[in-house]
Amino acid sequence: MLSIMHCTPEVVPFSKTGGLADVSAALPEALTRRGHEVTVVTPLYARVDRDRHGVRATGRAFDVTLGGRTERFEVFEAHLPAGTRVVLLAHDGFFGRPELYGTRDGDYPDNPLRFAFFSAAVFRMLRGSRACPSILHAHDWQAGLVPAFNHLYHLDLCGTVFTVHNLAYQGLFPAEVLPDVGLPWDVFNPEQVEFYGKVNFLKAGLVFADRITTVSPGYAREITTPEFGCGLDGVLRKRASHLVGVLNGVDYGEWDPEGDPHLPARYRPGDLSGKAACRDALLAEYGLAPSDGPVIGAVGRLAAQKGFDLVAQVLPDLVGMGARVVILGTGDREIEEALTSAAARFPGRVGVRVAFDNRLAHLIEAGSDFFVMPSRYEPCGLNQMYSLKYGTIPVVHAVGGLDDTVVDVTEDPGRGTGVKFRTFTREAFVDALRRAVDLHADPAALDAVRRRGMAQDFSWDAAARTYEALYLQVIG
Ligand code: ADP
Repeated sequence: MLSIMHCTPEVVPFSKTGGLADVSAALPEALTRRGHEVTVVTPLYARVDRDRHGVRATGRAFDVTLGGRTERFEVFEAHLPAGTRVVLLAHDGFFGRPELYGTRDGDYPDNPLRFAFFSAAVFRMLRGSRACPSILHAHDWQAGLVPAFNHLYHLDLCGTVFTVHNLAYQGLFPAEVLPDVGLPWDVFNPEQVEFYGKVNFLKAGLVFADRITTVSPGYAREITTPEFGCGLDGVLRKRASHLVGVLNGVDYGEWDPEGDPHLPARYRPGDLSGKAACRDALLAEYGLAPSDGPVIGAVGRLAAQKGFDLVAQVLPDLVGMGARVVILGTGDREIEEALTSAAARFPGRVGVRVAFDNRLAHLIEAGSDFFVMPSRYEPCGLNQMYSLKYGTIPVVHAVGGLDDTVVDVTEDPGRGTGVKFRTFTREAFVDALRRAVDLHADPAALDAVRRRGMAQDFSWDAAARTYEALYLQVIG
């Protein structure tokens, strides 16, 4: 049995802006179920619903000093269903705000301080409780200083694993913050935390962690190339023997049409009648005209990464093919406007909802025939795996985790679970959509692809076993 502490900036059900929050609950829970002693440490944001999620004050508090400034943190606690302990660190000034990292007008300017203090608080807490996990597993740039502090100030107290969920978000700050975030000037060099004159929190994690992981084998290969390396491919190539891609799992407790409480009707592979009811409910919810043509769904952050600009461009093509399109997302204002103005041209055919709405995300997974993910790059992607389970055929750009989890039905008709396109152009995407629409017109072929998709198993247990083996390597 190992004792493992995950340090993460977001974890469901307490906080979430993306897939990281799902992973930060599901992986620890899978490890707990395998008999390990697992704790998740995360900030207690203002938006956490304490009553609903059983968050209790422990009465413990401690002072953390960085760069000559001392801040007091209070310790709260909760538990995930399988028993994983969640420690939520409260600090009104840093975390008592409406959003996690910033508003639509930009990131919070004190993010370097907020997450440096968070990382330092982890060690202060460990010292206070005299407990020392065998593994500290830190996630993304917000926890990038955890491996750095472990190495620089704590004599490599714990083995460290650092997981990159998205290399594009690096936590880049002006060099002047260095003393305030508790880093010595001698690590400010291109071999360590410097990145073209700035401090890079993600790079700190990459440089100082014992092992680096990312969330799919495909993305692990891609990020060592200049095309996908976001300027860090050199660092990653240097550490390639310590870098591994572990495909994220799916929390089928949350994402399974057979028991999904968010749906108007449930269904399973042997009987898809409930899926038709979900489809009707989805069209009604978006005020779209009933149709026998395919329903195409998309859910996600409205960011350039996710290719929603390409989705906006192909809306006329999709309408021309007789499809209905439902879109749910929040994020970039320009992309939002591109989508809403394109949709306005096709009333009754295209619906766009700008919101973060978990119930509706479930309904789109269930009620759509196809789910589009034309991401420019995709570290893992969860929605395509949810889609497979829901009998909703993914149409994806063949990158990263999308390429790893979807088999193209044209390339491999006997094993195909979805439709892929390989060059990031409108033409290639439209071609993939046309192949999808053709498939929809052939009920027997459609049914076969659906069934193969629903039979895929991306449960967390396999991933948890791989992490377990990695932890054992780290502690020797
Ligand atoms: P990323 O982490 O890059 O945003 P992922 O595909 O890994 O992308 O995970 C996204 C997660 O966030 C999925 O669980 C998805 O359903 C959810 N999600 C994204 N946008 C929304 C939204 N607007 N409403 C509800 N859920 C959303």
